[in-house]
Amino acid sequence: MKIILSHDVDHWKWSEHLFDGFALKFMVRNMYYGVTTKVPLKLAMQRIFSIPKGNIAQLDALLAFEKEMGVSSTIFVGVENGLGLSYSKTTAQQIINLVKKYEFKLGVHGIAFDSLKKIKIEKEQFEKLSGETNIGIRTHYLRMSERTHSYMEKAGYCFDSTVSGINPASHSKGFAVFPISIMDVDVLSPASNNLDSIKKKTLNLINQAKLNKLNYFVVNFHDNYFSDLYPDHKAWYAWVVQYLKQEGYEFTDFYKAQDEMELNG
Ligand SMILES: [Zn+2]
Repeated sequence: MKIILSHDVDHWKWSEHLFDGFALKFMVRNMYYGVTTKVPLKLAMQRIFSIPKGNIAQLDALLAFEKEMGVSSTIFVGVENGLGLSYSKTTAQQIINLVKKYEFKLGVHGIAFDSLKKIKIEKEQFEKLSGETNIGIRTHYLRMSERTHSYMEKAGYCFDSTVSGINPASHSKGFAVFPISIMDVDVLSPASNNLDSIKKKTLNLINQAKLNKLNYFVVNFHDNYFSDLYPDHKAWYAWVVQYLKQEGYEFTDFYKAQDEMELNG
């Protein structure tokens, strides 16, 4: 079983969210957490006062951490807007450039999921911005219909990593499907967390993956949580990477894994 690390970039700066209601919801939620002590009041206030500071994304720090750990990841970047993903194409270009600086892999964070035409347009836009033609995808909010995979394949994507579950990756004729094995929001709450029990849950999933003979174990972590505003999230991700390294697992990426599956039939 090899490890694939991945990140979805949902947000970049607070200024994207002036009109989409996201900032307001964030403030109300964190005020509630603070008042009900679901997170320490000081931390809740720090989260709220991070808004005028501007940044949401922590991608640079996250990729620097991974580089230091000697691992790499695939970063899914949006080129269309929807469901709280509100950054511009100029920002998408900036994110792509940052990922390229680290020489990590890129994929599309898709908004379209039920229209072949829209799925194709997004891919073309991403090709223009990134200069890449061999591209994989994961949809925002993991949206799927019964037609999504066939549309992705027709649009020329080489893999999808939108579905989840402790199941092996599969492939057919140049298109692979990598289920997400573990995702931050499945095990962690934005309020209070018991890190010990979350680590246990994580170890259980890894063991289950070994029992189910998974070829690839896919981790999905949102970069904005790699922040002191989310100490549990940050500590959990650093621990997962350290643990998997310590246990001697080999790390790979979706593109290499897809090649590997094609070769092995
Ligand atoms: Zn997303």
